[in-house]
Amino acid sequence: MNASENMAKQILNASEVDPNKILPIKYPWAREYYKNGVANNWVPEEIPMQQDIELWKERGGLSEDERRMVMWNLGFFSTAESLTANNIVLSIYRHVTNPECRQYMLRQAYEEAVHTETFIYCCDSLGLDPDHVFNMYNSIPSIKKKDDFVVEMTKSLLDPGFTTSGNENIKRFLHDLIGYYVIMEGIFFYAGFAMMLSFKRMNKMIGVGEQFQYILRDESVHLAFGVDLINTIVSENPDVWNDDFKKITVENIKRAVDLEAEYAKDCLPGGILGLTSDTVIQYVQYIADRRLERLNLPQIYNVRNPFPWLSEVIDLRKEKNFFETRVTEYKTGGQLEW
Ligand code: FE
Ligand code: MN
Repeated sequence: MNASENMAKQILNASEVDPNKILPIKYPWAREYYKNGVANNWVPEEIPMQQDIELWKERGGLSEDERRMVMWNLGFFSTAESLTANNIVLSIYRHVTNPECRQYMLRQAYEEAVHTETFIYCCDSLGLDPDHVFNMYNSIPSIKKKDDFVVEMTKSLLDPGFTTSGNENIKRFLHDLIGYYVIMEGIFFYAGFAMMLSFKRMNKMIGVGEQFQYILRDESVHLAFGVDLINTIVSENPDVWNDDFKKITVENIKRAVDLEAEYAKDCLPGGILGLTSDTVIQYVQYIADRRLERLNLPQIYNVRNPFPWLSEVIDLRKEKNFFETRVTEYKTGGQLEW
């Protein structure tokens, strides 16, 4: 293969790309993720919230600590979802011109809109003050620090003059993709998933828990796509993945784990029955090692997974048979009748 043929088909800086011509497909994994996303379709309104509403409003139904944990998680996720949607549409989409990757990103953007809608629905159902919930990214320091870290890590892409031409820019782009996909969607969402799904297992706030479970299933596909995108760019530009860059990546992941630990302590200052911040932090460390593995970097924490039941949902990524009944119902519901 000569140099120009090599340039013709790749994710960044391709010499020949028609963003409107999807066939023949170069990256079949992108299309697979698109199909997975469609097969997983759901909307928050189909999850009953009655039990949650009763428990939330019942005097003494939940302890102050339990309420705080639920509120903080709603607060973080309510704005993180739109931050992610904006990042995809306003920065990544502009630079990744490959049509099958774009097809998936459009699907992902839609799912982020569904996730944003989920938090509107939760606020409405529980009668929460939307100004309070949707302003927690400003008012709660441990949430603000996470959001600020991602914004800081990914700001170069928002520069309208940014291009991916040359190795230094490819590195900046990869650095930002790691911020979006590996840190935001792959680490910063996971203390919340662990807390809310543990709570659901205790039979508390099961509607909100189920909403989080659907979001988790979507997010595990977003993360898988992001990692494939990152690893493909690296394989097409192997020079950028040097020791310096690996070191920066590992430092960023460590910093993310520290911020997530701070957030977990803030959500669970005294722990609640059956759940402590230490366990959640161990889970975040376990998850960070899995992310490092996917990026072909050495593990840091080497800890045991404290929530194996949760890992089954995430790590095996059973998109096809997890929630099978629901998915089937959606498929039937989605058919048009003439
Ligand atoms: Fe999301
Ligand atoms: Mn996402």
